[in-house]
Amino acid sequence: MKISEVVEGLPPTEKLYLRDSYLKKAPTRLIRAVKEKGSRYYVVTTSSIFHPLGGGQPSDRGWLTGDVKFEVKKALESEGVIVLYGKLVEGELVEGMEVTQELDWERRYYIMRLHTAGHVIDRAVSDVVGTRVNTLGALHGPPKAYVEYGATMDDSLLGEIEERANELLDERRVLVLEVSREELPSKIYGAPNLGRLPEMDRYRVVEIEGVNAIPCSGTHVKNTSEIGDIRLLGLEEIEGGVRLFYDVK
Ligand SMILES: [Zn+2]
Repeated sequence: MKISEVVEGLPPTEKLYLRDSYLKKAPTRLIRAVKEKGSRYYVVTTSSIFHPLGGGQPSDRGWLTGDVKFEVKKALESEGVIVLYGKLVEGELVEGMEVTQELDWERRYYIMRLHTAGHVIDRAVSDVVGTRVNTLGALHGPPKAYVEYGATMDDSLLGEIEERANELLDERRVLVLEVSREELPSKIYGAPNLGRLPEMDRYRVVEIEGVNAIPCSGTHVKNTSEIGDIRLLGLEEIEGGVRLFYDVK
């Protein structure tokens, strides 16, 4: 089953996680349920607190409850519509029914801390390497978080980058700004690779005050004091650069 077939004819999902990363529970309405096989279904609701896989962030997990119990194992996005894939545990999925969506908050909050830490590491790498470094990719979440940079680096720099990242952490506010294409150049700073940015009318910019302001659709903590300590776990060479594994404690 292709996700694009599941979303056919549906309006874009209201993405509640973009407005409030801390929303753990919210009511919504089921507008599509497509059986894959057995108890496995693809489900679409009118709004979503589940962040889909993408933008360096892994998919959220959780539950839909009410007259049914549906375990959300994965959230994916197609044409602006968020599709929840998972397992029907109890009851029946009926299009039009009201349900409560609930996040696996422990996992999500860990992802939020990792994602914000990833932005701090971007800046720390630039500071230590001495020039702006392009990011190639990232996974801000389990099983093993990493950030990738188009630069040559070796293990000897890890200690310095980690120290710089933790020094930058401090207690900084993390702000989410909505800006137009015209405003964008004046609102962002320390942003690694704008060349990859899609053409849009409005951009969502995540600013860690005094560290950087980067276009990003991820879910972040409100203050860097929530992150804890940043640990760099190792470095691996990849095509065109390096992959840096990290964690937060
Ligand atoms: Zn980001």
